[in-house]
Amino acid sequence: MRVLLLGGTTEASQLAQALHSARIETVFSYAGRTNAPIAQPVDVRIGGFGGADGLATYLKNERISHVVDATHPFANTMGQNAYRACSTHGTPLLRLARPAWRAQADDKWIHVPDITGARDALPADPCRVFLAIGRMHVDLFAARPEHHYLLRLVDAPQTQITLPDHHVTVARGPFNVAEDIALMQEHRITHVIAKNAGGSGAVAKIDAARALGLQVVMIDRPLRPDIAETANIETVLAWLNHDAERGV
Ligand code: NAP
Repeated sequence: MRVLLLGGTTEASQLAQALHSARIETVFSYAGRTNAPIAQPVDVRIGGFGGADGLATYLKNERISHVVDATHPFANTMGQNAYRACSTHGTPLLRLARPAWRAQADDKWIHVPDITGARDALPADPCRVFLAIGRMHVDLFAARPEHHYLLRLVDAPQTQITLPDHHVTVARGPFNVAEDIALMQEHRITHVIAKNAGGSGAVAKIDAARALGLQVVMIDRPLRPDIAETANIETVLAWLNHDAERGV
């Protein structure tokens, strides 16, 4: 048995630890987006595979018997590629994903389907936005230059941010509510834009927005391939052990 673990999330790192403890041979795969990825107790590879075909070739060459897709809920291309590559060889594929956040009674959420929708949902009058969506799509908001943007990024930006009025804070989660309330108060935030990542590591900003009565523009998750899915690491281990007992 040799597992490919598609990572980049807290859950993937937790699973890597569990697989290491269970002595299951594992390759952990990072896309290579951050400067200092978290060290893992298993073998690590970094960088894209070259699409679904590249991944299919990798699975064959590296004698991968099982794939766990523990990428972020918004890493949709990787999820689709994993599905297609595993279908090519009949490689068993399981998705490890945290449940989405659900609005509570006091929440003021607007649901939008994607980042462009979030941009377009901002009011016409200038407001102060906590744009908590990572670096990749930030420049789309240059089309709404009337707003002030607070950006929280894992690494200091390597390329110029094209938003005319913004502030960058560099920090890596998990975050806590009291600090996120203080951050939002300090920057006089009126709106929070967030991806519905789910889980506990990034929920502080949602809890903070609720506590402060702020509007949240919530970007709903993209549709993922229809494959077996769990939020539970024990279930992943049981899935692998079941096949190990069958000699797969
Ligand atoms: P994406 O759009 O689904 O993937 C784009 C390309 O990046 C993929 O086609 C693949 O390249 C490569 N890639 C993605 N994840 C990879 C992995 N684990 N190992 C090797 N290659 C990978 O993904 P994304 O939204 O850019 O996210 C990139 C990574 O950051 C993911 O691993 C994800 O778990 C993590 N992350 C994403 C978010 C988010 O909001 N999207 C948030 C936190 C963490 P090839 O086609 O060349 O194979």
